[in-house]
Amino acid sequence: METLEQILEIIDKPLALEARTGFQDRAVAGGLEPYVRAWARRAGAMAGSGAARALARLEGLFTGYPSLDSAGRRAAVEAARQALQGLRGRVGPARAPASPSPPTPPRPAPAKGSRPAAPAPPGAAPRLDMEAMYLAGIGPKRAAALRKLGVATVRDLLHYYPRDWQDRSHFTPVSGLKPGGQATLCGVVRGASTFRTRRGMSITEVAVQDATGLVTALYFNQPFQKKRFQEGAQVVLSGRAEFRSGRAQLLNPEAELLPEGEEQLIHTGRIVPLYPLVKELGQRPVRAAMAQALPAAADLPEHLPAAMLEELGFVPVSQALAELHFPPGMPEMLRARRRLAFDELFLISLGLALRKSGREQEPGWAFQGGGPLESGLLAGLPFQLTRAQGRVWKELQRDLSAPRPMHRLIQGDVGCGKTLLAAMACARACDNGFQAALMAPTEILAEQHLGTLRRIFDPLGLEVLRVVQGQKGGERREVLDHLASGRPLVAVGTHALIQRGVEFGRLGLAVVDEQHRFGVMQRLGLSRKARERPHVLVMTATPIPRTLAMTVYGDLDVSVVDELPPGRSPVATRWLKPARREEAFQAVRAELKRGRQAYVVYALVEESEKAEWKAATQMAEHLRREALAGFEVGLLHGRMEAEEKDRVMADFKAGRIQALASTTVIEVGVDVPNATVMLVEDADRFGLAQLHQLRGRVGRGTAQSLCFLVGDPRTEEGRRRLEVMAGTNDGFRIAEEDLKLRGPGEFLGLRQSGLPDLKLADLVRDQALLEEAKRRAEALIASDPKLGQAGHAALLRAVTERFAGKLELGEVG
Ligand code: ADP
Ligand code: MG
Repeated sequence: METLEQILEIIDKPLALEARTGFQDRAVAGGLEPYVRAWARRAGAMAGSGAARALARLEGLFTGYPSLDSAGRRAAVEAARQALQGLRGRVGPARAPASPSPPTPPRPAPAKGSRPAAPAPPGAAPRLDMEAMYLAGIGPKRAAALRKLGVATVRDLLHYYPRDWQDRSHFTPVSGLKPGGQATLCGVVRGASTFRTRRGMSITEVAVQDATGLVTALYFNQPFQKKRFQEGAQVVLSGRAEFRSGRAQLLNPEAELLPEGEEQLIHTGRIVPLYPLVKELGQRPVRAAMAQALPAAADLPEHLPAAMLEELGFVPVSQALAELHFPPGMPEMLRARRRLAFDELFLISLGLALRKSGREQEPGWAFQGGGPLESGLLAGLPFQLTRAQGRVWKELQRDLSAPRPMHRLIQGDVGCGKTLLAAMACARACDNGFQAALMAPTEILAEQHLGTLRRIFDPLGLEVLRVVQGQKGGERREVLDHLASGRPLVAVGTHALIQRGVEFGRLGLAVVDEQHRFGVMQRLGLSRKARERPHVLVMTATPIPRTLAMTVYGDLDVSVVDELPPGRSPVATRWLKPARREEAFQAVRAELKRGRQAYVVYALVEESEKAEWKAATQMAEHLRREALAGFEVGLLHGRMEAEEKDRVMADFKAGRIQALASTTVIEVGVDVPNATVMLVEDADRFGLAQLHQLRGRVGRGTAQSLCFLVGDPRTEEGRRRLEVMAGTNDGFRIAEEDLKLRGPGEFLGLRQSGLPDLKLADLVRDQALLEEAKRRAEALIASDPKLGQAGHAALLRAVTERFAGKLELGEVG
């Protein structure tokens, strides 16, 4: 009676012969199928349950053997021989294998609780300050590409975070591959060849085998791949499985040769990081460089205080980085992400809190109330302040009368009456012998404010000075003289106000009407025009989601005007497909006949000024001849001379123009209460914030107003925007939707806001984390206003680094 070991030999012998003779099924009389079946069953009866199962699989490999083609037979034989080797290793003394044994899949991840996941690089750990260029696989070209992404050193690289992860940690046996599924498997290279198709495409085929079968990895037009696959090498492949004539293929799989010993896999066989990349880089080199860089993370000082780490249940920063880049498991990755996202939000919050506390120590001007300009203004008002305006005015008065510079944001939806509040603050500044400046984001809006303020202040004998681009010669000299004189006045303008050469003799109040255009830098620009710190008032049309307000405006005190003047009814908004445009025009004509006025807004996307001018002119002509024939139609667009714009706006305000055909230049601030209807063409091309601002041009009087959005959106997002607009007038809701649709980067130009980038944190999803970060940052600064305590040194360094060159942190840093 044979031993089990002998039977395995008995099965293997003819298989070796079959391979040598070209798989003709002539190795044993009667064919291999019944031969293997018989011997495998006999062995199975003697073996333990594990081996018995393996033998049953072995038997299965030969089912239908005579009808297989030679590649199929080859696969079966090779798989069987590997299985036999495995079995012999189990049941008998080890022998030198004839070919490499089927690899046991490497551990995809270390066992729970062990040190995480740093793939061991060759040689010593690099230094944090070493240039990334010196990492293996990063030459000058890739280093240049990395630099474009802001990565110069090993330290920067560690903070270059994955955009996504792919779980390649579970091995699928070849026999378990499913068509179309993403799979990772582990096997031995049996051969690689490249051939060209008739169309000239090169295809590299790599045969890889595991204990259950043979799979072909296919690479298209990557002839270099052939060299990577030495016969007999053990590889891990990850890719999408396909079946051709019943045989398994992997298309362009990610492949990694199995490293020696205990080393971890980087590209496959684990949860693999996917980096946001530019063209010149590739996932593999970045991943490999990251693996080399990771040990350096151990040198990063932990900047969060130990107590905070413990309270929040965070892992140390070095571990978080390791687990983010090469997660041992998804829970660890999420834990690491949370910790590092918190870092971003915490450092921003801390920077803002530092700025704020620094400023609170600064001296500023304390203004007295009740002067002649202020009382004159209030006495001349044709209406009463709304309750919200009254409340905010109290807050402004409190700030202005304290001997510290005010830094306040007024948030309020379009039309809530912010301009008046600004005017009241200006009056108080001038009553106290100071100058005031009001900066607007567009020329039209600046003109509008100029008109409003002149109407208020001319009768009171206060100068309102226009400061815009392109003022020349005598006019400019006069403007500069008046500003430099230091005598009380209100300067109204665009960013011409913060240009070089503009000097204020005695600026006591800087008002920035940001709407949604300016960033922190411009705000600073205006307040720097004063010798001493002036009071700063920022105004913005509400649509700022809370999370953004907490970051972009995180260093300001916030007042909210959450009430519209009485008698306003919400604008009724309808979305119409272009085929139903005529319905909108009917409504427009009806309003015009009633003595009301209208806006017709066009999205102009022309590249050249001339083309845009032409398109705008044409549509006005078209309106005059067709849809609005018989009415006075005016035209307003960005390419017009300032004077012409002024004339058109004046005519519209006076009612000499009934319908204004316009580009988005009317987007912000324009205030003509008699305009009660708006038609927006190609409305789906506008962003939500922009549509909300546009719509804010109507509904400014007591009459019911209408807004028609005409558009046939081609994208789901465009469709969603129109639905949101038709569904609500609530600026906050629109802002939240906008943030969701566009992401914070685009929204409000967060990138231009002067704040450090958020790489992991997401202002939509991480609201709770932001609130936690802000609360803790403020508490910390309250107890240690300059982060001077010994335990906070690393934190202070981290904040100053993060904010480097971006925002002044006051006296700190
Ligand atoms: P926004 O907040 O969008 O800048 P404005 O300051 O332009 O709003 O005000 C919108 C309109 O409401 C203006 O015509 C303004 O004169 C008017 N207004 C402001 N406050 C009041 C009020 N308390 N009662 C009635 N109308 C007001
Ligand atoms: Mg306004």
